[in-house]
Amino acid sequence: MPTGRKETVEFHCVRDCSQCCIEREYFPSKEFGKIGVLLLPGERARMEELARKKGVRVRILPRVGVSGTDAGGPTRILAYQMMGREADGNVCPFLDTGSEGRAEHGGYLCGIYGDRPLACSAYPLVGTDPPALDDKCKFCREFGGADKNLDSEEESLIRIKSGMDTDQPVVWRYATGVGEAGDMHLVRTGWMRDPQHS
Ligand code: SF4
Ligand code: SF4
Repeated sequence: MPTGRKETVEFHCVRDCSQCCIEREYFPSKEFGKIGVLLLPGERARMEELARKKGVRVRILPRVGVSGTDAGGPTRILAYQMMGREADGNVCPFLDTGSEGRAEHGGYLCGIYGDRPLACSAYPLVGTDPPALDDKCKFCREFGGADKNLDSEEESLIRIKSGMDTDQPVVWRYATGVGEAGDMHLVRTGWMRDPQHS
């Protein structure tokens, strides 16, 4: 008999999964190359310092910029991105794939877990009202979505959105020049107008 109670699904990482620390996607298209982990401007120096302390090489590129007009490129950078360590753009430089250690759910350990970027602590949440999860996350593919156990993800996503708030009308994206060997004829490098805001 229906109880009238809304069913809730609790988010948890899928056993042994490290997919979101390994796989990088082309966004918004192959032309823009594979993206890295989003960093707010204030997080950039912190990642560089953590990398220095841990002896890890990081490559940080601009990601999103804005300007008042569409001439000449961005006048302000809203976000940077920490690129994957492999030539094809995959694998976060802080992912510890070389040791026996594993996270509680069995995935590879993050070398900076307590200090990880907001984008990592928000994932897989991509919307807050109502909660929306990235359908590329393995949990989402297996369970279809969740609406519980997402408080810290929500808090991080709200901080990212407020950190990237802008009244500038023109949005630029930095094409990373990184991709699979077979796609490199399509991949570009440098600032281009964001097709999602044109
Ligand atoms: S957030 Fe999703 S993709 Fe990332 S480790 Fe957890 S289950 Fe896997
Ligand atoms: S910083 Fe940590 S949580 Fe974020 S992608 Fe890298 S290994 Fe994963």
